[in-house]
Amino acid sequence: MQLDGIHHITCITADAPRNVDFYARVLGLRLAKKTVNQDDPTVYHLFYTDEAGTPGSDLTFFEYPGARRGAVGAGMVHRIRYRVASSDSLDWWEDRLRAEGAPVSRGPDDSLRFQDPEGLALELVVRDDIEDAPLVARSTEVPGEHALQGFDGVDALVADFTGSELVVDRLLGFADRGDHTWESRGPRRGGTITFEQSDRRGMGGAGTVHHIAFAAETADIEGWAQRVADAGAHGTPVVDRFWFRSVYFREPGGILYELATQDPGFTADESLETLGETLVLPPAYEPARAQIEPQLTPLPDTRQWRPTPG
Ligand code: ZN
Repeated sequence: MQLDGIHHITCITADAPRNVDFYARVLGLRLAKKTVNQDDPTVYHLFYTDEAGTPGSDLTFFEYPGARRGAVGAGMVHRIRYRVASSDSLDWWEDRLRAEGAPVSRGPDDSLRFQDPEGLALELVVRDDIEDAPLVARSTEVPGEHALQGFDGVDALVADFTGSELVVDRLLGFADRGDHTWESRGPRRGGTITFEQSDRRGMGGAGTVHHIAFAAETADIEGWAQRVADAGAHGTPVVDRFWFRSVYFREPGGILYELATQDPGFTADESLETLGETLVLPPAYEPARAQIEPQLTPLPDTRQWRPTPG
């Protein structure tokens, strides 16, 4: 069994309208699924992806209205890295993000670092050394040549490298790329996690990462649940998330991991052409749509940033 890099990354926002404006308008991602939290249907769960909702491009947010800003610390993913095509793209994004008032700086190896409106750390990098298909969304705001191309990796803080590195090495089968960077590379795609040491205590909240999911072949998910159980990692049984099936466990450094299937994907209940345009409810909540919809925060209509079809 082999994992195919990052499937999705789930974060927390206290300000859903501004979140939609930033990720759909400023960053040019596609809001591919607009649904509610499966545990609390009065708040959103928003999914921003490439054009087709492909695993590897999927950044999701739970809406916790009025939540305090979180603080990054040990046991948390604290930076999310996307690929872009060229160093020209880094220049283009530097200008665009500065014009939007985002804090921007050049990172190591000519990358571009910035934060979303709630302080979540993001980074753009150019990777000439890998040939993964670019996972790109179409947008009237971002020219195709500069579009984000899907996740490259994440940085995570842990108090002690040992247990965290044992899990990615032995349990998940990632490759050691040196300097505490580990790569999950499968038949479709690759992605990395880089561990950094920190004794700081973190606190979940707005602008922090809730969990990271790695992509499993659909036929392997029961096998992964068994492997996690056999390792004594206290995983969940396979959970049905409608668009994928998942196993969750907390790794020794405190980071919440999920292993999620590539199928059936976001077109299971919507057509590709209109993904994300209307509110999708889990089947159990569908009978209560008339009560749920008016309670939700009004959001900008992302169709204004989408090219006209055809
Ligand atoms: Zn998840």
